[in-house]
Parts: sequence; C-alpha cells; structure tokens
Amino acid sequence: GEVTSLPDIDISKLQIEKASQPKTPPPSDTLRFGHTFSDHMLVIPWNSGSGWGAPTIKPYGPLTLDPSSVCFHYAPQLFEGMKAYRDKSSNVRLFRPDMNMARMNRTADRAALPTFDSDSMTQLIRKLVLLDQHWIPQEPGYSLYIRPTLIGTQASLGVGASSDALLYVICSPVGPYYKNGFKPVKLLATSKNVRAWPGGTGAYKLGANYVQGVKPQHEAAEKGYDQNLWLFGEQEELTEVGTMNLFVVVRGEQGETEIITPPLNDMILPGVVRDSILNLTRNPPQWLKPQLPPSLKVSERRITMPELAALAEQGRVIESFGSGTACILASISCVNWRDKDITIPVEHDGSGALATTLRNAIEDIQLGRQEHEWSVVC
Ligand code: PMP
Repeated sequence: GEVTSLPDIDISKLQIEKASQPKTPPPSDTLRFGHTFSDHMLVIPWNSGSGWGAPTIKPYGPLTLDPSSVCFHYAPQLFEGMKAYRDKSSNVRLFRPDMNMARMNRTADRAALPTFDSDSMTQLIRKLVLLDQHWIPQEPGYSLYIRPTLIGTQASLGVGASSDALLYVICSPVGPYYKNGFKPVKLLATSKNVRAWPGGTGAYKLGANYVQGVKPQHEAAEKGYDQNLWLFGEQEELTEVGTMNLFVVVRGEQGETEIITPPLNDMILPGVVRDSILNLTRNPPQWLKPQLPPSLKVSERRITMPELAALAEQGRVIESFGSGTACILASISCVNWRDKDITIPVEHDGSGALATTLRNAIEDIQLGRQEHEWSVVC
C-alpha cells in the first residue's frame, strides 16, 4: 500500500532495556489464562511520515495514550495469538509464526493500519521470547502465550486512517487447556446474533469482532451451554464455534469418513490450527498415516444445520470439534438447535478418536517430538 517507500521494521535498530526488578513467575498451578505477564514487552511505533521506528524491548508496563487516540473510539485495534513451547531438550519453539504474521498483516491492511515485514517481526518475537524464556513453565502442557497487538494511536476524533500506530507484543504464561482430562463442549446454535457476514470483517483478527460475541456467550452459558455455534443465513450455515474453527466428521454415502470444515470466506477466521489439520489430513506424514481412517475425504465445504441434524438422525455423525491455538482441538458433545439437543458422539475419555489423533500429532510437532518444518526453534 502507501507505506512501501517508508522504513520497514529494522531489527538492527533494536534497543533492549532490561527490567531492573524482574518478577518471580508464580507457581504454575495458580495461573489463570491471560492474567500473568512476563517481565518484558516489545514496542514498535509507526508514523505515516517516518514509517516504522526503532523496536524496543523494555519492562512490561502501562502505555500512555492520549484519550482522543482513535483506538479508543473507532476500534483500529487488532491482535494475534500464538505460543512458545519448551521442548525436552529445553529449546524454545514457535509453531508456524509465519502464519500469524501473515494474518496480522492482512488484518492490519483491512484496518487501514500499517503493514510490516513478517520475518523481521518473527525475529523480534524470538528475541523477546528468549529473553523471557524462564516464564515458560517447566511442567508438561504449559506454554507462553504471545499476544502481538497493533493499535491506531493518532490523537484525533476524525474517522480515517490513523497517522500513528503502536505495535506491541506481550507474553503470558499459560497452563494446559485440559488440566483434568478432556471436557467436550456443548454448543448453542445461534442465529439471533451473527458473528460475521459476507462483506464483513470476520476473516480478520480485529478486536471489534470479539466484543459483540461476549453477550451471546453469556446467554449460551445461562442456558447451560459452553459456547455459541455461530450460524449464518437462511440455510443456517455452520461457521465457527465461539472463537474456534469448526470441524464435523461424518460417514459418507459409500461408508468413507469425511472431515468437513467450512470454506474460507468473509465469515471464517483462517485459523493456524485449521490449516494444520487440513494439511495433516490431506498430506499426512508417514508416522501419522497409519493412525488416520483408511479412506479419509477432506472437504472444505458448506454444511448447514438441517444437514447436520439429518446426518445425526441417521447416525452418520462420527465426531465434531473446534480448533484453535488455546486448546488445539476441543471435541463437541452436543449442539442445541431450535430448542432440541443433538448429541454428537465422543469417546469415554471426552474426546473423539480423530480429535485425539490430530491433537497428539500437532502437539508432537509443536514440542519437536516429531520433526516438522512448522516448528521453529528460537
Ligand atoms: N476463529 C476465531 C474467531 C478465533 O479467534 C480463533 C483464534 N485465533 C480461531 C478461529 C482459531 O485460530 P488459530 O487456529 O489460529 O488459533
């Protein structure tokens, strides 16, 4: 876009100001998701006249912003979610960081905020994570959640592309999603509220996409369901689950197993785990092949509630799950649609068989137990 001639992010300009009073990470079993932050953050300013400024890694702490900053009024704000893992040789690893940076750039462009060189950002994130690597808990299943954020900071109430922006990255130690065994989620099929629509911004990781989901999520919880199953349109197309992508596994006409996920369009966030599942099922590595159903058809296609209800009625729904960085895969045990519960099979341990296989495969790659180009040693 318009910023290509301005300076991009320059790693050689990185300044590091270490915390004079580093904190002691709390005992791992007391961690609540997103409540504890590591000692340092990465901050990079941008201005429409001078481009990206020098990156700084400095002590984690409050930002000072003018109350008129556009991010407080018109929501030029976006984020990413990724994790750093510690492998058994104590290396720190990231999982497909290029995917997160590419998505962050697409979202930035959609929000009329500045884009940046993905590789430079990944390098800076690696430096931040290595500096704070003692914040990755030692216990199995724990990781460091990384939250890159970009906000428009122009001090002005005019609606328009922000002349100033701030990119920052903070890190939060997090526990395993499943601490006490797998717990399948129960969904409330929701069409009264719509998460995303054709021509909208659902395919981007804008903060503004999330605020609207909080109240419907509470309404689902009040009825005893864990998350919303977001439907769209008169056909009641299934789109996403809470803040996860959706997969449904069914028995096809010829007895084959079909794994279905809605196709990428304006309504679907292109998840890193979604893409990984599609890749691993379409082109399984040798070690994974024997664990997958023999004739597995992989479909990116629309699926509607009437179709799901009919398949369930015929006993052809094998399992269903949501996918995302937080949980990798979360099995679904029930969908409430038009005041009736549709039961989705799960194994006795609370996960579907394919969900377990794919979750283990992705975790093995993330932790370097299986060699794979997706896992990047810092
Ligand atoms: N859909 C939405 C709406 C999300 O917020 C997320 C979490 N980023 C996902 C899907 C899953 O994406 P990923 O696999 O990249 O975590």
